[in-house]
Amino acid sequence: VNHYLDRIEAHSHLNAFVEVYQQEAKETALLVDAKIKAGTAGKLAGMVVGIKDVLSWKGHAVQAGSQILNSYIAPYTATAVQRLVDEDAIIIGRQNCDEFAMGSSNENSSFGPVLNAKDNNKVPGGSSGGSAVAVQAGLCHASLGTDTGGSVRQPAAFCGVVGLKPSYGRVSRWGLIAYASSFDCIGPITKSVEDAAILLEVMAGSDEFDSTASSAPVPAYSATLHTQKKYRIGYMQDMVDNPALDPAIRDNTLALLHRLKEEGHQVESVQMQTLKHLLPTYYILTTAEASSNLSRFDGVRYGHRSADAVDLESLYKKSRTEGFGAEVRRRILLGTFVLSANYYDAYYTKAQSVRRMVRDETEAFFKDYDFFISPVTPSTAFKIGEKTADPMQMFLADVFTVHANVVGFPAIAIPNGEDADGMPIGVQIMAPNLKEADMLAFANQLS
Ligand code: GLN
Repeated sequence: VNHYLDRIEAHSHLNAFVEVYQQEAKETALLVDAKIKAGTAGKLAGMVVGIKDVLSWKGHAVQAGSQILNSYIAPYTATAVQRLVDEDAIIIGRQNCDEFAMGSSNENSSFGPVLNAKDNNKVPGGSSGGSAVAVQAGLCHASLGTDTGGSVRQPAAFCGVVGLKPSYGRVSRWGLIAYASSFDCIGPITKSVEDAAILLEVMAGSDEFDSTASSAPVPAYSATLHTQKKYRIGYMQDMVDNPALDPAIRDNTLALLHRLKEEGHQVESVQMQTLKHLLPTYYILTTAEASSNLSRFDGVRYGHRSADAVDLESLYKKSRTEGFGAEVRRRILLGTFVLSANYYDAYYTKAQSVRRMVRDETEAFFKDYDFFISPVTPSTAFKIGEKTADPMQMFLADVFTVHANVVGFPAIAIPNGEDADGMPIGVQIMAPNLKEADMLAFANQLS
């Protein structure tokens, strides 16, 4: 704990942590130490973990990177966090993120941007940017992030670490501040696939507080990591040949596919027709869900309340205008529009049917293949400020990651070399629903 506290202090310019639980972490470390000596310590004894600022921990502030939750203290603990604590992990702090997890660069946080530790002029990715940089820079052993459309995998790729998005419902969402409830997943960001497997097996499983949490038994992911098998792997040549893809990422992805073929895996290019509809489907459905989820931040029940309100209506308006940042306001407006009576069928209902079509096509793909391999991102980490003026450019950063969330399947980003400037490149492996054990064993084989 002292080691990490020193490093956090020495790297405060990265802005990865919003709050550090200095005293509490030291005290917990002593308790865990005593348990280790007594032989009663849990599975994660001494693992120092940071948590994204959207995960509730009773008695601690949680703000989702927003000023609207200024001074809010969590009255209960997220199940995922509780399960880590129960196994004697030590929570060292809460980590900076895009406001309400909306963003791909961590520039939408009310606490200011997070800097990529590899090049301080570049973004770490988002929205779990603080969580990724904390692992990248060795400020904690592992982090918990959340992934609604890529927010664990995309920053992991930009920072050269491992990011795991489990199947939808594999990890309870209880205590997670919602962005888009039918997409949100909690996942670990780690240095190794093994750590991701250990954290997932501790967090996963049914939960009486989240009816969408899967009751499927939780395999011992870390016990099967060394399974060596030959797999059937699909990828899309069109995706790799797209001129918008950074050539260094294309080369590294193709080199990996080539290596897999040499090693005896079956590697084939496939076509999936529905993937071109992913981004619009994702942004219609997630903004709709966000506009509904974020209606609870009304200045009455919790968080920021405007001092200038004169009646109830102006209390709502002023509190929300003062409390929410520009990107969150944009998403609420977009979501409210697609849910409005005149446009509901044209956008929301249509997007729901497209979501089903993508899922059907993806399920059909997985009848013939074990994994789908793709880049994680179209580019390596970009410069801070480079894309802030153009939301469409920013949305394109998720073009490869949203697939897994639209269909609810697991996916993992692992490091796959770097570009000529030394910026990390990732590769993504996606697996069928609840097939995390195979996916992790395969990822482990590659790393
Ligand atoms: N960048 C995507 C968005 O802004 C994904 C965010 C996420 O996964 N939380 O919606």
